[in-house]
Amino acid sequence: MPDTPTIAFDNSYVTLAPEFYARLEPTPVSAPELIALNEKLALTLGIDPQSLKSGTGIAMLAGNAIAAGSQPIAMAYAGHQFGTWVPQLGDGRAILLGEVIGTDGIRYDIQLKGAGRTPFSRGGDGRNWIGPVLREYVVSEAMAALGVPTTRALAAVTSGETVLREQGALPGAILTRVARSHIRVGTFQYFAARQNRSAIEQLTHHVIARHYPQVADSENPALAMLDAVIQAQSSLIAHWQSLGFIHGVMNTDNASISGDTIDYGPCAFMDTYTADKVFSSIDQGSRYAYQNQPRIAQWNMVNLAQCLLPLLHEDEAEAVRLAQEAINRFDEHFIEQYLIRMRAKLGLVDEQGDDLALISGLLNLMQNNSLDFTITFRQLTSRSPTDPFAPGGPLHDWYLRWQQRIDASEPVRAAAQALMAKSNPVVIPRNHQVEAVIAAAVDSRDYSPFHALLEVVTRPFDHDLEGSEYTLAPTPEEIVTQTFCGT
Ligand code: AMP
Ligand code: MG
Repeated sequence: MPDTPTIAFDNSYVTLAPEFYARLEPTPVSAPELIALNEKLALTLGIDPQSLKSGTGIAMLAGNAIAAGSQPIAMAYAGHQFGTWVPQLGDGRAILLGEVIGTDGIRYDIQLKGAGRTPFSRGGDGRNWIGPVLREYVVSEAMAALGVPTTRALAAVTSGETVLREQGALPGAILTRVARSHIRVGTFQYFAARQNRSAIEQLTHHVIARHYPQVADSENPALAMLDAVIQAQSSLIAHWQSLGFIHGVMNTDNASISGDTIDYGPCAFMDTYTADKVFSSIDQGSRYAYQNQPRIAQWNMVNLAQCLLPLLHEDEAEAVRLAQEAINRFDEHFIEQYLIRMRAKLGLVDEQGDDLALISGLLNLMQNNSLDFTITFRQLTSRSPTDPFAPGGPLHDWYLRWQQRIDASEPVRAAAQALMAKSNPVVIPRNHQVEAVIAAAVDSRDYSPFHALLEVVTRPFDHDLEGSEYTLAPTPEEIVTQTFCGT
């Protein structure tokens, strides 16, 4: 058998104390087949794409072969799930193969999701089915193309086995996920709950070296790291809000320390603008509704801050005060980032005091008139005589207000137009299209809808896509009201 792909593993997480992870190998599957390979990403990781497409490459992507230098582990973490504390979660169906330094100089985790049971699997089977794999592949790659910090999809393979879920027996699949790291708020919580101060110190050190080297020399590195994570998370959520993205499961174990979008479950982009929109079937209390996302991210940061208290100051009251100040900076930073994103969508190249009112005015009108979020911003970008901004349309009065606000001079107009064109996507991975992709894969092993959707959502600002079927809002029959984790 030829060698497995050559990967220049450079593993740092396994050098941490043994309580950070469990060493184990993926459980082999019967008949893996490649569905998709992200060749560009492979090149960034310094891996020859051809080698991943070979028999041994596919075997590695399925967990049937271990590449030289890989030191597979399942990471330990805890977390609040829908607000309820769970002292032990951990990688129950994901196995980290190792880390590489990309050609961009960034350290990346390479992880198999759905690679078999681990010591953290609890009652689960450690597997994944094709639905969540294709959803995560399409949505994470779309997010990357939209410029949102996110984990990436390197490959998807089918396992040749079936996986039992509520819906019945489904085709098994494995996603190879790439991340700047898989460290979560829940990773800190795991050790804080065990009062393992040395582990918290080690983790803080690791996170600073890996994600926030700029704070290493600050007077209070743990506080500076907390600030940096708060900034990264608040920027991330502002970006989500500007695109109508709803994560769906913002548990503390799904909040990444690097500030990347992670753990795509029942996530979705909204079609018509609805501030309290929820897709996830398991989010009964609407905890993770669109409009709650900033507040929840801040709550997650409170939990991170709590873990770091012993490191912030030796005097507990002072530590709490410092943590509280850092948490209070979340709102300020969020609003700043939200305004930057939303001003760009409206082509506002300068700042004015009542911009927030102009933005909320538009959103309220969208909600009251059941208008599609993505399409409406695009209509503002490329006006047509029949759009809702036109005379007689429901947004015409707002349009006149907006026209008064923008500077009409030619150079400013050109800059505004360019800004809007790169801030308002033509296509997003709409939920009904993602569902159609999954249905074709399950019902007839047809992956062509998946490849077609992936192709368009990875060039979301391409003007040539204007008018394509992928830009359309769902018809009433096509509307998807709920998404399922189905894990
Ligand atoms: P998630 O909601 O996907 O973020 O997962 C929450 C927790 O459940 C994590 O600890 C997962 O590893 C675990 N989990 C989810 N699905 C499975 C599964 N099929 N088998 C084992 N563990 C799972
Ligand atoms: Mg998770």
